[in-house]
Amino acid sequence: MNYHYIRLDDACEFMDNHKWMTVVEFMLDRGVIPIIAVIPDCRDEKLLQYDYREENLNLIKNWQAKGAILAVHGLHHVYTTQVSGFYSFREAKSEFAGLPFDEQLEMVSHAKRIFFEVYGEQENWIWVSPSGTFDKNTLLALKRNGFDLIIDGYSDAPYKFKGLNWIPRQLSGNIIRKKHGIWGISLHPNTMSDHDIELFKQFIDNNIGCFEYNISKIFAFPFRKRGVKEVLYDFKASLLMPIRHTVIIKLLVNVKRVLLQKSKRS
Ligand SMILES: [Zn+2]
Repeated sequence: MNYHYIRLDDACEFMDNHKWMTVVEFMLDRGVIPIIAVIPDCRDEKLLQYDYREENLNLIKNWQAKGAILAVHGLHHVYTTQVSGFYSFREAKSEFAGLPFDEQLEMVSHAKRIFFEVYGEQENWIWVSPSGTFDKNTLLALKRNGFDLIIDGYSDAPYKFKGLNWIPRQLSGNIIRKKHGIWGISLHPNTMSDHDIELFKQFIDNNIGCFEYNISKIFAFPFRKRGVKEVLYDFKASLLMPIRHTVIIKLLVNVKRVLLQKSKRS
């Protein structure tokens, strides 16, 4: 079993729609279904720098009509706390983690309401936390609001935990092929350079077999209960995350990626 999926983060009215169109339409053209994490009511200053375009919402709806899977990506995408939450080794900034349950319940409900008004009823309500930070109250608020699925966590297969189905996501920004398991790669089209997009396209074309996936295949996986395996994966991630973030490792990963691309070209 070897599935990769691509999650594209930060779609909203404010986005670099040229880059988004390049990435999403390339994927759809290749039959690779993206999961698009959409911000319901974007107030993130980094994203407000892009022109407001209502037509972006139509673009997203059009991608959805062509098979893209939409996920709710927070409410405003603004960090309100300095808490890392459930995964304590992640960066301490969150839109949700650390806030009281009632407040989170209202925020998630508000996010879902806005999302519903624009994109309609979803077959599966899927959640992606901004900055990957959430806590137990967030999970409870999601469950109370009828979310089925969260894209997060570490494992080689989907699992059930806290009343939600979890689709693990292990790779962030690093587009590399793994041999076994289900691997989510999250990317941010807004900040991808032309070179990044070119490498991304090459990766898809060179590994197209890993992307013969759609959401029904993922749902067909046996969602087992979170167990020792997931605890060990979490532990491994807690050890690797700080290392992965060091400059040296980042440099080595980039050098390896460039060398791999060169050897494939030659
Ligand atoms: Zn985001």
